Amino acid sequence: MSKTLHHYINGQKVEGTSGRFGDVFNPATGEVAARVPLASSSETASAIEAAAAAFPDWRNTPPLRRARVLFRFKQLLDANLDELAQLVSSEHGKVFSDARGSVIRGIEVVEFATGAPNLLKGDFSENVGRDVDSYSTRQPLGVCAGITPFNFPAMVPMWMFPVALACGNTFVLKTSEKVPSTALRLAELLTEAGLPDGVFNVVNGDKEAVDTLLTHPQVAAVSFVGSTAVAEYIYQTATLNGKRCQALGGAKNHMVVMPDADMEQVADALMGAAYGSAGERCMAISVAVAVGDDTADAIIERLASRVMDLKVGPGSDPDAEMGPLISGEHLSKVKDYVDLGIEEGAELVVDGRSLSIEGHENGFYLGGCLFDKVDSNMRIYREEIFGPVLCVVRVADFDTALQLVNDHEYGNGTAIFTRDGDTARTYSSQVQVGMVGINVPIPVPMAFHSFGGWKRSLFGDMHMHGMEGVHFYTRLKTTTSRWPTGIRTGADFHMPTMK
Ligand code: NAD
Repeated sequence: MSKTLHHYINGQKVEGTSGRFGDVFNPATGEVAARVPLASSSETASAIEAAAAAFPDWRNTPPLRRARVLFRFKQLLDANLDELAQLVSSEHGKVFSDARGSVIRGIEVVEFATGAPNLLKGDFSENVGRDVDSYSTRQPLGVCAGITPFNFPAMVPMWMFPVALACGNTFVLKTSEKVPSTALRLAELLTEAGLPDGVFNVVNGDKEAVDTLLTHPQVAAVSFVGSTAVAEYIYQTATLNGKRCQALGGAKNHMVVMPDADMEQVADALMGAAYGSAGERCMAISVAVAVGDDTADAIIERLASRVMDLKVGPGSDPDAEMGPLISGEHLSKVKDYVDLGIEEGAELVVDGRSLSIEGHENGFYLGGCLFDKVDSNMRIYREEIFGPVLCVVRVADFDTALQLVNDHEYGNGTAIFTRDGDTARTYSSQVQVGMVGINVPIPVPMAFHSFGGWKRSLFGDMHMHGMEGVHFYTRLKTTTSRWPTGIRTGADFHMPTMK
């Protein structure tokens, strides 16, 4: 009998009462590891109401005190790092070292958020008129909601809530129902760090919980990360209901390889960026754009044997380079894309479809797949596959490569590998993509910069964490004041101007 999980509301574990449950799998074995309650609308509303009740006091807590809670939270995250990574790995399937790295990237956002007193410092202008001063401050919004995907159970929620809490908001997180345990543990650690009850809440659930967050009048802002179709729905529904919204969607990230690139470095970069985390990263490289046939041949020659030799196994195997996919359903979907690529006329150089891991025959494993001669009309090129499948597209020159990337509907991340500064600079300047790497395959911005894509990879205006995160979770107020009050200037009926 698998264990039954819970929600975390008002500083406590709360059992689900909707009567609806989802299965949480161990992707390495294919077994059901837990049941997760799927919150009803009224259970979700109770989390929102707890967050709303906690807001006035948390808002008025001095930023330095809020930062101290986050500092203690950071210490607890460090102390429990391996346990958290283990939770991520066991529910998501990614290998332990990769899971650990993703938790660390989340902790870095907490470190950034501990700078709250400095981040929230306002602007002051003395004497904007005689004896009149003006100052601008950034104030919290209220209850903020986060809705997150399966592929980063710790990191993506931590792109959101540390900054939101540091700014004085309270928070309701609806984590992915496929990987619910990590967020519940983060909530416990926040309570242990001294966060007042109700400031951070976790509801597990599906569309019913999400729709409640999108329409409830007490939710002020919604942060979403997930697939593009859902991101667009979230953005439209949240904004229609008067909420601020940032909704990050899917991706198809291209790595342009110029003929002058260091091909050994290119091969190493593509192996990690295309097959790490079984390709289930929104910043994974899924397309290598080879400029010139010689470049393409050099890539295929170096990659083919390495992709065939990828060590695939359970996340707990220290020798494994790549774990299973998230679910049986997703495994079938990715395999179908490989079938489709063959039908569409691409050349399947490495076929990982028949992989089976001894002792883990029911796990959701797929070996690395490599396609050559993919063209831009094929669905395997246009659509996000989200698995260990790399497509090589051959183009004649740099301008065609740039145009190809710019014509794609997604614009999350991209990279160029070259030794030529002019080419790199032109690419970075002209490419219509939010995050660019120059000889860096996965250019995920650090916590003190901001993360976000362009085009249909992000709906809304502001990216996550860094100063964009602070701006998203606050609104600007400008106060103009005159002291002393004894001075009389008479009634002015015209627009005040500097005389
Ligand atoms: P998903 O869109 O299926 O789910 C994301 C969240 O939305 C989950 O919490 C889920 O419960 C909820 N949801 C799903 N369907 C819904 C619906 N119809 N109505 C309301 N809510 C719904 O995404 P996923 O499969 O969990 O994650 C993978 C996707 O996330 C990929 O497309 C990947 O590119 C994307 N992603 C993007 C980024 C980024 O920064 N742009 C980062 C990580 C993942």
